[in-house]
Amino acid sequence: MARADVLILGGGIIGTSLAWALAQRGVSGIRVVDLDLAGVYASSELNAGGARATWWQPVNIETCLATLEFFAEHADEFAFQQRGYLWLYDDDALHERALALRELQNRHGLGVEALEVGEIQARAPLIDRGLDELVGATWSPRDGLINPNAVRSWYRAQAEGLGVEFSNRHYVTGVETSRVAGGAGETRKIEAVDIVEVRAGVADSEALRRVLTTHHVPAEAITVEERIETATVVNCLGAWSPVFSSKVGITDVTEPVRRQISLVDVHAEDWAAGVDPAKLGMIVDPSGLYLHGEGAHVLAGYSTPGEAPGFDFDYDGRDFFESEIWPRLAHRASSFERCGHVRGWAGLYAVTPDCSGIADRVESFANLFEAHSFTGRGVMQSYGVAQGMASLITTGRFDAIDLSPLNRSRFADPLKWVVEELHI
Ligand SMILES: Cc1cc2nc3c(=O)[nH]c(=O)nc-3n(C[C@H](O)[C@H](O)[C@H](O)COP(=O)(O)OP(=O)(O)OC[C@H]3O[C@@H](n4cnc5c(N)ncnc54)[C@H](O)[C@@H]3O)c2cc1C
Repeated sequence: MARADVLILGGGIIGTSLAWALAQRGVSGIRVVDLDLAGVYASSELNAGGARATWWQPVNIETCLATLEFFAEHADEFAFQQRGYLWLYDDDALHERALALRELQNRHGLGVEALEVGEIQARAPLIDRGLDELVGATWSPRDGLINPNAVRSWYRAQAEGLGVEFSNRHYVTGVETSRVAGGAGETRKIEAVDIVEVRAGVADSEALRRVLTTHHVPAEAITVEERIETATVVNCLGAWSPVFSSKVGITDVTEPVRRQISLVDVHAEDWAAGVDPAKLGMIVDPSGLYLHGEGAHVLAGYSTPGEAPGFDFDYDGRDFFESEIWPRLAHRASSFERCGHVRGWAGLYAVTPDCSGIADRVESFANLFEAHSFTGRGVMQSYGVAQGMASLITTGRFDAIDLSPLNRSRFADPLKWVVEELHI
């Protein structure tokens, strides 16, 4: 039987960064398994590339700030650009709360500025419409944009350099557990994880999608069935984490929810005076629309309210652009009056009831950990979460980065929720 000292389920940005963080601490025998390490349907490959530390909860600020500092050290490799986040408000109560929470953010050194409506255009000449609807804005200069694929590749290359084994086309199907003799209460232990290795053909997009949306590998696609004995397991399956949790008797609170992004084309002559498209940082509109410059185009996303949970990867195409993206863009900025739809995509947010992630040892298991459900924050939180989890796994406690607020048991008591409201 195969064996891994630490078996990481899922090779998205969280599983990969954790593998590196563990290897950095001298852990050996680490193996990462994923159905598709290219990540065709992984959120890590389908996100918006935003990176900010301006959150409302200390644990999210601290993990994201540690990650931003790490990104800044590798700015060229990760195409990290501190272009800032401009957050526009049209609601007095939300604006007041944002201003009050600025104190917490600035205690962490974020330097968030409050802008009067009359100051917004000077900071962002793009915003030249609907200013009379706004009540103010915040500007966070340390936030910015990142190439998430470059970050994930870097984590992987570093991890492989330290001996971590990555197994592609390996799909987790089951788990064998035992009761720990003399353990407290009903403590159990993962003995082994069942994996099927799938034919190379299953790596084509349609077949992958069928597996990842139905959680079933057709018998004819299986080449090898393998049982991997392991001392430690970490669930880093992102939006699919509940599928594994259910195999060990945990009813998860996480839901997969589709999020869509469009790429927008603006003719050079249509940019309003003073706008430099090459320096366009993240702008978050009160309507829920967000945008930033993306190469020759503008990336614009919008989280449709009431989107039903499910493993849905269908991008609604021009309809989405015309009904949700373009009207909001043109409402706020004349530059978008005549813009065009290039293409777009859909990916999954792994959403918890308080919109914060889960990073913890799984209660009632001696050797099962989990790090997933980082909603729209997994890339910008990856370094901080990986360092915190590596400490927990190797020493039994958190050191410099304390992830304890992200425990799963908080969901039993809404007073312990880590609620994030500035969520896009
Ligand atoms: C549209 C959109 C925009 C976003 N924007 C941002 C942003 O601007 N900034 C930011 O920080 N975050 C953003 N996010 C969120 C971020 O992308 C995620 O939080 C992060 O990528 C999650 O990483 P992960 O490793 O947990 O999950 P994933 O990257 O989804 O990885 C999970 C992996 O598990 C594998 N898998 C699933 N089931 C199995 C199985 N049974 N066996 C083996 N392998 C399996 C999958 O193949 C996948 O590779 C966005 C997300 C979306 C969808």
